[in-house]
Amino acid sequence: MSNKEPTTPPLPGTVPDQMFPALTSAQQARVAAHGRARQAEAGEIVFEPSHGNKFFVVVTGQLDALGLSEHGEELVASVGPGMFTGEMNVLSSRHGLLRIRAAQASELIEIDRGKLVALIQTDSELSDIFMRAFLLRRMNLIARGIGDLVLIGSNHSLDTFRIKEFLTRNYQPYSYIDLERDADVQELLDRFSVAISDLPVLICRGSVVLRNPANQAIVRCMGFNEAIDQTHVRDMIVVGAGPAGLAAAVYGASEGLDVLVLESNYPGGQAGASSKIENYLGFPTGISGQKLAAGAYTQAQKFGAQILIAKDAKGLACDRRPYNVEIDNGERIPARAIVIATGAQYRKLPLENLSRFEGAGVYYGATHLEAQLCGGEEVIVVGGGNSAGQAAVFLAQTARRVYMLVRSGGLAESMSRYLIRRIEESPTIDLRTNSEGTSLEGTDHLERVQWRNNKTEDVETHNVGALFSMTGAVPNSSWLKGCVACDAGGFIKTGLDLSPEDLAGAHWPLARAPYLLETSLPGVFAIGDVRGGNVKRVASAVGEGSIAVSFVHRVLGE
Ligand SMILES: Cc1cc2nc3c(=O)[nH]c(=O)nc-3n(C[C@H](O)[C@H](O)[C@H](O)COP(=O)(O)OP(=O)(O)OC[C@H]3O[C@@H](n4cnc5c(N)ncnc54)[C@H](O)[C@@H]3O)c2cc1C
Repeated sequence: MSNKEPTTPPLPGTVPDQMFPALTSAQQARVAAHGRARQAEAGEIVFEPSHGNKFFVVVTGQLDALGLSEHGEELVASVGPGMFTGEMNVLSSRHGLLRIRAAQASELIEIDRGKLVALIQTDSELSDIFMRAFLLRRMNLIARGIGDLVLIGSNHSLDTFRIKEFLTRNYQPYSYIDLERDADVQELLDRFSVAISDLPVLICRGSVVLRNPANQAIVRCMGFNEAIDQTHVRDMIVVGAGPAGLAAAVYGASEGLDVLVLESNYPGGQAGASSKIENYLGFPTGISGQKLAAGAYTQAQKFGAQILIAKDAKGLACDRRPYNVEIDNGERIPARAIVIATGAQYRKLPLENLSRFEGAGVYYGATHLEAQLCGGEEVIVVGGGNSAGQAAVFLAQTARRVYMLVRSGGLAESMSRYLIRRIEESPTIDLRTNSEGTSLEGTDHLERVQWRNNKTEDVETHNVGALFSMTGAVPNSSWLKGCVACDAGGFIKTGLDLSPEDLAGAHWPLARAPYLLETSLPGVFAIGDVRGGNVKRVASAVGEGSIAVSFVHRVLGE
């Protein structure tokens, strides 16, 4: 193996030098000023993933990065003189994913995570080199299924789907072994003393066996949140890491605020469920929601925002300042300003046995993850809005037929013209107006769907294994338990929408009126889809995130 060349195959379309660049001696000197020199013997383990995170630049010699895949430990990449270790986790204070071993006697520069983040924030040339390499390396690990997680499950299991979705949307590389398809599965189950009834099982860091773990247990095992201090008073807590919350985090942290984000699930919110967002400024060929969210998530961390994953805000202690966001077990996190960006959640179809098939045939997002499960088959999309239109057009690329069920008489009232045209022109999409689903059938997985035409009263039953439900959303505001004024639909009122009665009812204490996006509580803002009068667009959610931060500065100065 050469000293200089990485062994990793490049991702299609990437330039290997961007994933494994070599720093010039001037660049190495700038890094060295923040770190310390270190020697390593041939074969020495210089970094274990369980020991937090460290970053190394190779001055002479070679480091090997070793990761776990379904085949056991394998060489992921080698870096030679001028090259550096690290991927996305180095920014987020999480444990590393790979073991680092000196392939030969080496001279290194070692830097602690905090100093590396400070360097990235101040040195834009190094920031570009490091950020691009870290992102490409993470994508490469995901594509190759190398990390420290092995999931064993079944494509027919709802919990397997939940765990896959949680890991994918948190950008965690993992290898997947399917009970029905992989011959070696029994050997692996025996090795970890796991019964088939325990599945799905997640083997975390090569040793900890989690049997059908809740998302919170996965997060604990991976140490996602453990390095984040939850006790000190923050300048700003952002609740929700959809486009609105991530934008507030990026603008807030980049403008020097101490920002903590709480997210119940995974970053990206509803936008993360979109296969392709085509109307977001600056992306003429469209961008997938997950890609957009991944970039925003990384950007927020680059500027120093901290993000707690799988952490629900359960309430807001709003009787005195600083306000406290209540999380699990009565724990509270204090902050001088709060930005509520909890968005909305999908409306559920009124079908009796719906919950049995959620994740096992009924889906609320149409991304590559779901499309993979139903390629070449007939599928149904329910809904007449833009998200339903996008899903139908996306699925039509791989499905045999897409039935689109719409309760109204047409799409013109509810959908953008460009999507209507694509639906009309697609030979694969079969639009059924005045129609709604009436029953779902199947054993472990959805197998048949019945629907009715409300105009003709015709009933049809089709053998369909995937139904995509895209019928709008309701605001996630109930956790606030009346702390802020809401409209009749539960959307949070802000700024000029707050009437004198709302303000009197909330005992608004200040001489000034609420700022734009400020709720009936001073210093508490609401942005994006949870706000009354929102326009359900990624761009407006992002814009509101940036506007709210400008008013947070004013509130902190009051
Ligand atoms: C399939 C689909 C396709 C779409 N396509 C487009 C498009 O092409 N163009 C466009 O402009 N818009 C599109 N939209 C709309 C757009 O995605 C939304 O308007 C946007 O995501 C709203 O952002 P948000 O941050 O306000 O809320 P959300 O995206 O809803 O995010 C809210 C976040 O808050 C978290 N959360 C909720 N409650 C809590 C709590 N108590 N504690 C902690 N966290 C919590 C949620 O888990 C979520 O991550 C689409 C929507 C969908 C569903």
